[in-house]
Amino acid sequence: MRGDRRTAGSLLLVNAAHPMPDTAAPDLVCVDPRWPEIQLERRAAGLLNACIRAVGGEHAIVPVSGWRSREEQQAIWDDTLAKEGEAFTRQYVALPGCSEHQTGLAIDLGLAAEEIDFICPNFPYDGVCGAFRAKAADYGFILRYPAGKEHITGISHEPWHFRYVGVPHARLMVRLGLTLEEYVDLLRRDFVRRDLTFRAGRRDFRIHYYAGADRGLLPEEPGRYRQVSEDNCGGLVVTAWR
Ligand SMILES: [Zn+2]
Repeated sequence: MRGDRRTAGSLLLVNAAHPMPDTAAPDLVCVDPRWPEIQLERRAAGLLNACIRAVGGEHAIVPVSGWRSREEQQAIWDDTLAKEGEAFTRQYVALPGCSEHQTGLAIDLGLAAEEIDFICPNFPYDGVCGAFRAKAADYGFILRYPAGKEHITGISHEPWHFRYVGVPHARLMVRLGLTLEEYVDLLRRDFVRRDLTFRAGRRDFRIHYYAGADRGLLPEEPGRYRQVSEDNCGGLVVTAWR
């Protein structure tokens, strides 16, 4: 039902244990008119472009893959399985229904080249790509599958895959060295009865977790701006600031 579909929010956790909910529908836009088929959630697209511009990467950094439908993820899975075999596919391709590309909040980036590998694009740690990495959290993006966290994310180190989570969360995750799985766990465990407070730029953020909550029943927070995100684990993360 179209009328029941909603934008789930920037902290939606999608992995093998947490499939993409059918009811969530990202508000998609084209990332760059040069690649009209690559789409991202509206806010993520704007901030991705702002970050690329901030490092002068408009001609060097290429969006390789953004939003995918479940069907598209299935096609990528089947194709990679046929060409590369099962071990490689399980390492680098998320199960259909469980790819965070389906959220519209994930983007694979590549360094501009004559040929770019669609599954494992080259996105180095130095040069303009390194500059992008250094600024990514200031625009709300994290490296989603870092080295050393494969046992938590279930996905091999992917230097090219970035995920939009929003500015305070991205900065917190980088500072605390946490993946999205670990960050959502931390909020659920420690910030139900108290706020996680964080200052980023000139904003003072208050982050709070509501287990099993209904959006309509959240308490008012007068004088603050607020964003509410589902975590896909049965709770809501409320981020308030002024
Ligand atoms: Zn990816």
